[in-house]
Amino acid sequence: MTEDGYNPYEMAQEQFDRIAEKLNLDEGLKDLLREPIREYHFNLPVKMDDGSTKVFRAFRVQHNDALGPCKGGIRFHPEETVDTVRALAMWMTWKTAVADIPLGGGKGGVICDPHDLSDREEENICREYIRAINQNIGPLRDVPAPDVMTSAQHMLWMMDEYETIQGEKYPGVITGKPQDMGGSKGRTEATGYGVIYVLRELLKELDRDIKDTVASIQGFGNVAQYAAELFIEYGGTVVSVSCWDQEDKKAYSYYKEDGIDLEELRSITDRFGSIDKEKAKEKGYERLPGEDWLKHEVDVLIPAALENAITEDNVGEIPSAVDMIVSGANGPITPEADEVLEDRDMIVVPDFLANAGGVTCSYFEQVQSNQNYYWPKEEVLGKLDNSMTSAFYEVWDLAQRKNVRMRDAAYMIAIQRVAEACEARGWV
Ligand code: GLU
Repeated sequence: MTEDGYNPYEMAQEQFDRIAEKLNLDEGLKDLLREPIREYHFNLPVKMDDGSTKVFRAFRVQHNDALGPCKGGIRFHPEETVDTVRALAMWMTWKTAVADIPLGGGKGGVICDPHDLSDREEENICREYIRAINQNIGPLRDVPAPDVMTSAQHMLWMMDEYETIQGEKYPGVITGKPQDMGGSKGRTEATGYGVIYVLRELLKELDRDIKDTVASIQGFGNVAQYAAELFIEYGGTVVSVSCWDQEDKKAYSYYKEDGIDLEELRSITDRFGSIDKEKAKEKGYERLPGEDWLKHEVDVLIPAALENAITEDNVGEIPSAVDMIVSGANGPITPEADEVLEDRDMIVVPDFLANAGGVTCSYFEQVQSNQNYYWPKEEVLGKLDNSMTSAFYEVWDLAQRKNVRMRDAAYMIAIQRVAEACEARGWV
């Protein structure tokens, strides 16, 4: 359960149950897919800079591997819970399936706050995590990646620890690595760019010009920044972004009516995606409460921070001008809020389709790492664009044909693919 009372795992199970019912899934298959196949819980003893040892609680959840090795990020967050990780692992299974890549779903998390840790302490957490899980991950088992508050540097420390234990080089054990250390070009941009490839296609279908489209983005971390980058490059306007303020221990949104200047904001942002509030003021940004990101009269909302961003408490505050939501974050809309959005005929591109660009590029990274042969950036991004575009149309076309929402169509495709893989393997 998160602090605000939402349990993402229950949410993920509810969403699954609803579609499983519609698809008439076999009972055994339902039981198999509504829970993770394996999970690992550990206490990591970590040497701190002051000489003490601190114990951090950590998890790795493998939801399903019928389509291939499990795949999914590792998050560092002070409010991480095993249920959040379970939900995220389940969503990874649907994400890889809807993106049509031969991988399963997994997720990891460590309960810690990187704001309070030195680089050395974070390195120690990464190495301890791999010491605990090394027998149960691997290029053919489960391949971690970055997620909330973890970066290419964390992935490199983890890969190094894995290789040290194995005594061999395994660049395919983890993705999202630094580019000169086995990482794929374009991986950093991939999730945010993927969100915009999908939005671009949606706008085409609606016969609307991206150049006349205005967005408000929740977050200013990796996904939000690269979504803003490509959206602005295509001619769109972003009027607001938001971020956590560690000093005030609350979120703020930053608004500029004629559109943010991305490079200007980036230059006053730390590695956690937190914007310097004083400097933002000097540069003419209006500072508003964090939740105001969804109150602006824009065309599209892009939640690109954490889960449970749009709830039954704030969904009513979305102005009627907004008619599209493209989810960059995982699980940003609670089922209650989603019902309200459905009644409003809001077009919602579901998270596990819209943000599948990250894992799709991770898949490309794995392929490159395993071959030890790296592709130019244009090739990576071209392939990514093709994958995201075709995943979008598969979902869009099914939604039109069956007259269902994109979320349901995406679930139908994903669950069907995983169910068929389980059946074909003779698991059920
Ligand atoms: N953490 C990202 C996600 O939620 C990427 C996972 C991956 O690349 O494996 O999709």
